[in-house]
Amino acid sequence: MRVARYLEPGRLALEDAPVPDVRDGDVLVRVDACGVCGTDVKTYLRGHAIIRPGSVLGHEVAGTVTASRHPGFAEGDRVAVGPYAACGDCDACRRGHPSLCSRLGEAFAEPGGFAEFVRVPRRLADRVMHVLPDGLSFDHAALAEPLACCVHGLRVAGVTAASRLLVLGDGPMGLLQAVLARAWGVASVLVSGVTPQRLDFARGVADVVVDARSEDLAAAVAAWAPTGPDAVLVSVASVPLLEQAIALAAKGGAVNVFAGMPKGETLALDLRRVHYDEVGVVGSFGYGPEDFREAFELLAAGALPLDGFVTDRVPLEDVEAALRRGAAHEGIKTVVVG
Ligand SMILES: [Zn+2]
Ligand SMILES: [Zn+2]
Repeated sequence: MRVARYLEPGRLALEDAPVPDVRDGDVLVRVDACGVCGTDVKTYLRGHAIIRPGSVLGHEVAGTVTASRHPGFAEGDRVAVGPYAACGDCDACRRGHPSLCSRLGEAFAEPGGFAEFVRVPRRLADRVMHVLPDGLSFDHAALAEPLACCVHGLRVAGVTAASRLLVLGDGPMGLLQAVLARAWGVASVLVSGVTPQRLDFARGVADVVVDARSEDLAAAVAAWAPTGPDAVLVSVASVPLLEQAIALAAKGGAVNVFAGMPKGETLALDLRRVHYDEVGVVGSFGYGPEDFREAFELLAAGALPLDGFVTDRVPLEDVEAALRRGAAHEGIKTVVVG
């Protein structure tokens, strides 16, 4: 089968690789759609602490079962599959933090989504793989993983239907947070960003959209929510923006450091905001199986305003060009199609 292998930062190669063996409990899935994610783009540009050269990127997979040795799935099933699943049994899992499972690395969809086929091991098939209803496209099913991360992120920030939610960043994740907030019936959503095409999409889902290139964010937030937002999702890796988020949050509000911050970044924190104003600074990373299930069910119900979210569909040969376009913030979501 063909795979797009990550050789080193700035280099990807289309190679032949053996189709993975299907062992007892496994499912073999032909990849019909794999989303290109910010993590893939970052890894391609600068390398990654965990994702080693020689691996195959891509982890937002939807496809068709071509062989199954798992009782829950049969050949021909159309599925969405998460790239990893909490074990349910380690200390972090038992304390209710599946996204922090210490055994995530034990089982993954191999070799990776930028390939013709992936082997889905039993733990993933049991916990983060779901059969698509007829009306759900592979393109949208491939959004289950990023959407699951957003479910986790909004939950960690305590977002409820009564919240005023501020999303900082108009990348695919920031926009998905706004989409999800709509589905949750969140009272009011403001998205701030800098990219015209992405802000256009945001105008279709958010109550207020701020173009941070030309508008003053603090003034816009004050006009929208005079007492401040109840939750702020910081979905751009920017410490100055995080500082502004902490300054803007409502008393009793929460700021979620959703974006992965570069190593060594630190923050001077106004502790009076934390103590007297009870502003919480929290973080979220990845998803747990229940987040994945909720994301999948929202997609399956067709209840999300996603028109125009997938802007590009490219074949496996063009993954590298797609990663470069992602780095240049062109389009919104690119899906690699099988
Ligand atoms: Zn992703
Ligand atoms: Zn665990």
